[in-house]
This record gives sequence, structure tokens and C-alpha cells, in this order.
Amino acid sequence: MTKNYCKDEKSDHGINEMEQIHKALNEHAIVSTTDVKGNITAVNKKFCEISGYSEKELLGKNHRILNSDTHNDAFFIDMWQTITSAKTWHGNICNKRKDGQLYWVESSITPVLDSNRNIIKYISIRTDITYIKGLELELRKSESRFENAQRMVRMGNWEWDLKTNSVYWSDEMYEIYGCDKEIPIENHENVNKFIHTDDIDKVKSYEETIKSGFKERLSYRVIRNDRTLRYIMQHAEIKYDSNNEPAVMLGAIHDITEQVELEYKLSHQKAIFESMFRDAQDAMVMADTDRKIVMINPAFSKLFGYGQDEVVGRTSQFLYKNEEEYKQQGDKRFNNNTDAEYKNTGYEIEYRQKNGDTFISNTIGSILKETNGNTIGFLGNIRDITRKIQDKQLIIASKEEAEKANKAKSEFLSSMSHELRTPMNAILGFSQLLEMDYENNLSDEQKADVKEIKNAGEHLLELINEVLDLSKIESGGINIVLEDIDYLELVMECVSIIKPIAKKRNIKINITDEDIYSNNKLSLNADRTRLRQVLLNLLSNSVKYNKPNESIDIYCEKIKDDVVRISIVDHGIGITEQNLQKIFTPFQRFVDDDSAIEGTGIGLVISKRLIELMGGNIGVTSELGKGSTFWFEITLNYVPKIIKKIVTPLNKSESDKSCGDFTIVYIEDNPANLRLVSKLLSKREKIMLITAPNPEIGLELINVHLPQLILLDINLPGMNGYQVLSEIKNNDKTVNIPVVAISANAMQSEIDHAYKLGFVEYLTKPLNLSYFYEVIDKFRIKNDVL
Ligand code: ADP
Repeated sequence: MTKNYCKDEKSDHGINEMEQIHKALNEHAIVSTTDVKGNITAVNKKFCEISGYSEKELLGKNHRILNSDTHNDAFFIDMWQTITSAKTWHGNICNKRKDGQLYWVESSITPVLDSNRNIIKYISIRTDITYIKGLELELRKSESRFENAQRMVRMGNWEWDLKTNSVYWSDEMYEIYGCDKEIPIENHENVNKFIHTDDIDKVKSYEETIKSGFKERLSYRVIRNDRTLRYIMQHAEIKYDSNNEPAVMLGAIHDITEQVELEYKLSHQKAIFESMFRDAQDAMVMADTDRKIVMINPAFSKLFGYGQDEVVGRTSQFLYKNEEEYKQQGDKRFNNNTDAEYKNTGYEIEYRQKNGDTFISNTIGSILKETNGNTIGFLGNIRDITRKIQDKQLIIASKEEAEKANKAKSEFLSSMSHELRTPMNAILGFSQLLEMDYENNLSDEQKADVKEIKNAGEHLLELINEVLDLSKIESGGINIVLEDIDYLELVMECVSIIKPIAKKRNIKINITDEDIYSNNKLSLNADRTRLRQVLLNLLSNSVKYNKPNESIDIYCEKIKDDVVRISIVDHGIGITEQNLQKIFTPFQRFVDDDSAIEGTGIGLVISKRLIELMGGNIGVTSELGKGSTFWFEITLNYVPKIIKKIVTPLNKSESDKSCGDFTIVYIEDNPANLRLVSKLLSKREKIMLITAPNPEIGLELINVHLPQLILLDINLPGMNGYQVLSEIKNNDKTVNIPVVAISANAMQSEIDHAYKLGFVEYLTKPLNLSYFYEVIDKFRIKNDVL
């Protein structure tokens, strides 16, 4: 049995008042004594009941036997510091029962002192507060749950004491308003500081409404301390005091910023979609999963002729030109669709308008899906492409037309070339022949005249070529053959051609470095004809645009090891800075319209193109009124020269009449050309030339004479040269006879074509005599006739 904790303290003086108090205390409280070390020296009954230990089990044990490990070291240090300094300690302690259960006691530990004020023991008096602690715990838990719930849904609650104006905020209120909960909000004026200035009036009038007993909600904005904006939804109500006066306003707020922003985004997207749908150029139609029309846009109404009311709710079949297509589209696009095959694939569909007309469309269909993937409908984007198809057909037709025109142009150029070259052939051929003067019949003066004819003829030929060149350059069909060219020889040749026109204006042309290069040959790597053409153009310009009695200087300077610059300097009208920019552009002329200076404005363009084709550059510097310097750069030639075999004329008798070892049949309808070739061949020994004015006679003669060589004009009456060639090649007897084409058609495409068909050589009119002889001699050598 537990003993009365005071029994050992008291003498047996009977029950006095003190004992009565002790008894009452024992009845009410949990009482124990310990020695200074905390070892239990006495316990009362209540102590044993609450701890589950018997008195025997407790006496002599240290008080730590009840330690529940709930409190930290600091707690006990504080306790011991208090009681060892002879003070009473008060506090709530959680102890552990023998069975392990915890119990809470509200304790007072009082040290007992002897007469010397030394502590001799401690008396502890406790009250069981386990139940209260349990309630406290529950309360705290439920508060924490409430707080968590508020935090999670971003809700806060507040109370406003209307009498004191003080305000209570829950933790989440501080979070939502973005302020520190360590600094309490305190009064209602402080709350208003957070309200957006545009919303403050409505908040105030709302508060008045609530004060009048209404329960309403309000949305408003707050500006947090960090200047960010939050949207709030608030519910509030009023509580009355015992006099039925409004006493406290209670409120709950919800941070709805995210919803508001989402709604804003959605409404923004909706507005975009609606405006796109409304303003789209293409007809748009939205249908549900049954293909029933839900919505159309104005472009749809315009294209199909139906208003919204006439189509909404109808399945879209009536829009299709034929039922089959509607079904097919259903199968292809709607029923078995997969994302992959449906994505932005435009397809052609014929639709029918309200007035019965049909049109071809390019339709793009999209499946409308919810976020969970469920199909909710379809969106069709329809574009009328009838016009586009017609335009396409038109483009094809006009392309064909243009191709035809281009072909006609080529044919025209080819025939022009032929028409112009044929008479030039006679002029140049005969003048060359006269110039050679095998029979020494010409006086020196006549020879000079012949030379003039030849030079002028060649110049005329160049002019013809220039016109043809431009078209060739435009079509990219120009052929450049680089060869070794003697700079001085070429320049002198060009100067001699230009001199007569220079002379007329009393303009002197100086080749300033003539002395240098007459002793020291300078070899250029260029296409002779083309370089000559450029020089002639620049020289003739320097005469045309020069001032009378002025001079022109030509000189050449090395600008790199393998590049020279040839400059032509005049002292003429010059060119403005602005015009210099456009000088190499076709058909640009910078002379007054009434100026007598003739020109086409294409010479410089051709020159530039030609120089570039030869791998060089061209340019100009000029000063208005003072003159211009046109220059071009060209590479030097290091390629060793091919020494060509020089063929000497052998026989001066008429070939036609002579019987030789080498028989040539020449088919040509132009008598002048026939005569020219006859005359040329008469300069060679042992040649028998048989001429034929048309293909039929020619073929017969070939069959009879089986010549060693055939010369064949291409442009013949009746049968053309290609047909004659094919006759020759189809005849076993004549198949191996070499056939040389002689034609005025100098288009490269024509030449290539001829070689492909089997011509062994292609000579262009006007004939280059030395090359003509070279070809003839080549075949003579082959036949051992030379
Ligand atoms: P064309 O001389 O036939 O008009 P070009 O293409 O050769 O054509 O020259 C184009 C234009 O450049 C000429 O019309 C002229 O206005 C200007 N031009 C050419 N060369 C000279 C020059 N040496 N001095 C002044 N202007 C020139």
C-alpha cells in the first residue's frame, strides 16, 4: 500500500489541520518526494495509479524511470537549474507509464531546505492533464488540417472587429496578400492598402452591403508587396452582438488568380479563333462527329451561297457534287482516320453551290479533339481552286506558246545567219582569193583596194555576228576557243580597221607601246575573233565619243605575272558617275537623242560578257568632258604554240577539167559558192572536182564516181544536206566516203548535230581558206595524194 507521503515527517500528534490539508492534497494530486539526486523517496497512491508502478517498484528508483523522451535536454537542464537554485519549478511534463503509455502532468517541484538552507529533498506535486493535452493536440491537429486545406486551395479567412477595428488574418491570408505574418495586419486600414485602387470603391460598398446583413461575394484585385497582382474572390457575413448591433465581420477569400489568367487565356484564344474563323479568306465549316454542320464562316457563305441558318444541323452531304465522293471522304477522312494520314493533307473535292454550280476545291480537314483525345468534330478549310487550275492551264499553254516562239526565233536567227552569211561568203571568199593573187595580175593599188573590200567585209560580218551574238549570249550558246594571240598584231589589225573612221574626225590613234612589243612579242590567251570584237568595239567607241582632232592611246601593262591590262584612252565627252554604274547594262546609251552618234547600246554588254567568258575583267574610269579610259584584263599565253603545217598551192589549172587521183564531189546550189570552191581547189594538184547543183544529181554522181571526199552544202533545195548524208550512209558502196559539210549555219547546236549524224568536218561560210585547205589536204594525205 502506498503510504501517506508525510507520515514519516510527522510525529504522531493526531490529525491536525496540516494533516487535513495533506490528506486533501493526497486525494487530489500526484505527490512524490525525491532526494537531491532525484531518487524517489516517497510516492502517494495517485502517483502509483497514474504511473502503473507499485510503491515498491518506485521507491529508491531515480525519477528518470518515468522519462518519456518527449522533452529535450534543455527542458531538464532548465528544470534542474531552477530547483537546485532553491526555486520552485512549474511546468508540464510528459511521463511514461509502466505499460509504455504516455501521460501528461502539470507539475510543481519544490526544494525542501534544512536550517542551513541546504536542499535536502524535493517535493513534486502534479495534476493529471493528459485529457486536456489530448484535447489540445486534437485542436492543434484540426487547426493544422484547416490551415493545410486553406493553403492547398489558396483560401484564407479573416475577422474584422467592427468596434475595435482590429483584424485577424489566417496564415494563408498573409500568403495570398504576400506579406509577412510576423508583422500582424492589426487594423482594417492596413488591409485597404493592398486593394487595387480601381477596386477600392467597390470593396467599400461591398462591406456596407455586408454590414446591412446581406451575404454576397465579391471579386477584386490586390497588389502585393512585391507589386504582383492577385485576383481574389471573397465571401463575407456579419455577426451581431447581444444588442443586435453588427459586431464582427467574417470573411473568407479565395485566390483565383490562376483561374482568372486561364479564363483570360481561353477568352483570348477564343477571340483569336473567332476572328480567324470569321475573317478567313477560305471557306471554313465545322461539323460534329455525325458530320452535321455546327458552324460556318462568312467566306463559306460567300462561296457556297448559304447562310448559317440554312446549313447548321444538316449533314454535309448536300455540299458535295456527288454522293460517292461524300461517302469516300467519310471513309477516308472521318471514319478510319488516323492522325498521320489526316494531318494537313489537302485534297481535291468538287462541291456544289446553292445555285447548283459546282467548283473544284482544295480542302484541308482537321480533326477536332478534346484534351483527353476524344474526337468532337471536324474542321474543313475549303479553297476554290477552279481559277488556279484554269490559270495553270493558261500558263502551260503560254509556256508552250513561248517555247514555240523561242523555236521560231532560233529558226529565224539561223536562217538570217544563213541568208546574211551566204553573200558574205562570196564577198570575203573572192576578195581573199584576189588578195592571194596567184597570177600576179593586180597592181599594188588594186591589192590595197581588195584589202579594203576584205576588211570592210570582215567588219560587216562582225556586225552581223554582234547581233547574233547578243541573242546567243542571252541563251548561253556562245563558244569560246582560247588560242595564242599576238597582242601587237591584233591591236594593229583593229587600229587599221578603225583608222578610216578616225581619220574622218581627225583623231589620231597611238599604240604607245608599239616599239616595246614589236621586238618583244606579247602572247595573249584568248579567242581571237572575240578579243578582236571587243577591241573593235572599244576603239570605235573611243572614236565615236571622242572630240574631233583629239587622240586615242592604246597601251598594255602587266598587272600580275600572267595578267595584262589593255587600256584605250580617249579625250572625249566622258561619262557621268551615275551613268558609269549602268554602262555595262544592255541598251543603255548616254548620248542626246538628237545626237548624230549612232549605236545600239549593246556593244559594251557583249564586250563585258566576252571578256568574262575568256576569264578576264573589263572596266572604265571617266571624267565628264575630259575623256574615258576603257580597259580589260586578259591572261597571258604560256601554252607552247602548235606549229601548223603550211600548205603550198600546187596546181594552178582548173580542177573541174583536170583528171586527178583525188576525186571530190561537191553538192551546192549557190553558183558563187560553187565557183569559189572550184577556184580554191584548182590551186591543188591531182584533184578532180565534180560539182552538182542539187542533191539528186549529186547522189547520182557519187554513185558513179565513188569519190574520195564529198563536200556537201546543208541548205539545199528539195532534200537537205542531212537527208543526202543519210542516203550516202545507207548505200553500201558509199557508206565509207568521208562527207564534209559546208554551211552558212554557224550555230554550235547545228554543228554538234552534224557531227552526230556522221559528217567528218563542218566548215562554216564564209570559208576560212587556210582551214579549208587544211581539211582538203588532210584527206589527200590519207589517200596518199599529196
Ligand atoms: P553604242 O556605242 O552602240 O551606243 P555601247 O554599248 O558600245 O553602245 O556603249 C554604250 C554607251 O556607253 C554609249 O551609247 C555611250 O553613251 C557610252 N560610251 C561608250 N563608250 C564611251 C566612251 N568612250 N566615251 C563616252 N561614252 C561612251
